[in-house]
Amino acid sequence: MLIKKKWVYDLKKRQWYTFSFINLKLSIYIFNLERGKRAPGAPLRMSKKIIVVGGGVAGLAAAEAARKNDELAEITLICGESVPPYNRTQLSHIFHENKTLDKLLLKPLHWFSDNKIQLKMGELVKEILPEKKQLVTLTGSIYTYDVLILATGAINYLPPIVKDHGPRVATLRNIEDATEIRLACLGANRVIVVGGGLLGLEAAFSLKQYGNKVSVVELAPTLLPKQTNEKTSLQIQNAVIQSGIDLFLGESVTAIDESDSSITVTLASGKKLTSDLVLFSIGIRANTLLAKNIGLATNKGIIVNDFMQTSDPNIFACGDCAEASGVIYGLWAIAQKQGTVAGTNAVGGQNKFVPWIPRTVFNSFGINLFSIGEIISMPKDNEQIVILEENSESSFGQLYLRNGKAVGALLFNTTKLVGKVTKLVENNSPFTSEL
Ligand SMILES: Cc1cc2nc3c(=O)[nH]c(=O)nc-3n(C[C@H](O)[C@H](O)[C@H](O)COP(=O)(O)OP(=O)(O)OC[C@H]3O[C@@H](n4cnc5c(N)ncnc54)[C@H](O)[C@@H]3O)c2cc1C
Repeated sequence: MLIKKKWVYDLKKRQWYTFSFINLKLSIYIFNLERGKRAPGAPLRMSKKIIVVGGGVAGLAAAEAARKNDELAEITLICGESVPPYNRTQLSHIFHENKTLDKLLLKPLHWFSDNKIQLKMGELVKEILPEKKQLVTLTGSIYTYDVLILATGAINYLPPIVKDHGPRVATLRNIEDATEIRLACLGANRVIVVGGGLLGLEAAFSLKQYGNKVSVVELAPTLLPKQTNEKTSLQIQNAVIQSGIDLFLGESVTAIDESDSSITVTLASGKKLTSDLVLFSIGIRANTLLAKNIGLATNKGIIVNDFMQTSDPNIFACGDCAEASGVIYGLWAIAQKQGTVAGTNAVGGQNKFVPWIPRTVFNSFGINLFSIGEIISMPKDNEQIVILEENSESSFGQLYLRNGKAVGALLFNTTKLVGKVTKLVENNSPFTSEL
């Protein structure tokens, strides 16, 4: 009778086990199971090959989570851009603060080698071959995966009227865009920002600080209607105008004429604005092409379940390219959270993405605005507005209750209560006076 010992790796518990057994012809009797480190000389288990496509915050978080949960996985992060992952939300700061790329990097370069994450920069994935579990890049490189994570983000939307635009039409999504806009706006230029949402206003503020003459064209009759109330919106509007920006509310662009020396925008009202550059900031479109081409379920984004898994169980998606419960959030913190969930699950975890209550942080024109959840301006019978702080024109805090429970909050030029109101709204807690 021969007693044998074997080492096995439990993928779920990420732990090596040894078991001893007696092989009696047909049956194997295991009589001892103990945990331990891999035996010296024992064969390594095949490490899982995880490939993440897209080096934005979602892709980085996915790679980081995969590494945290599996020491042995072979992780490759393929970045279409030729730079390491950086903070996209700070891009407009490049104009007036002269922020350089090194100030925006999310991790120092050595972090990738320290964590055994292969970083491939300037590599665009052209197609996925799901039956071979392979990826092909534009340069012809082939990567094989066990599990694939798509974190391809989004592009900025351009309306059909600027289909074949020249260099005087711009959008701001990546470091290249920011560098080009910065160069184009050297010296006093005229810039029209189309879209007075958060990103459009931030860009307008930055371009104004950078010495340009700036106009903002916004379709809605008020600024940031979803993120604030009427009174605050008016205060933001005044601050924008006082900064010297021309504001055109309730207007849309109906035509664009671009010449070598200038570009003219015609508005729905018939007004014509001439400038040197037009920057569109009117929303995003998820990068779904890779997924669509292999028949993954897609809608506006790549459809994922709560585990961030696509219709192919070996492929996950996260961030701005993913549509979870019908929503593409387009928000930094959510992309990061989804990336963490996708990365954890790619190596055998079972984490769920819990939908997040959207929040807004706006820091321009000398205004500091934080809002979360629903903003209630005209309370119904079961709704209440609680004044949290001294209600002055220039600084105030409000909490919105429905049936006595927190559903939203707005803090204007005060940040003291951000943590507390966030918790109340996230937990839909009843309001008590001790805050
Ligand atoms: C100027 C600006 C300001 C912003 N400000 C805020 C803010 O204040 N608050 C907030 O919450 N959000 C903000 N956002 C939005 C936020 O940045 C995004 O929600 C977030 O970056 C999404 O991360 P992601 O990783 O999903 O996608 P992305 O950051 O878009 O990254 C996707 C990456 O994938 C790469 N890629 C795409 N296709 C391929 C391919 N085929 N092969 C290889 N690589 C590929 C892209 O090049 C890109 O690098 C801002 C965005 C911008 C542009």
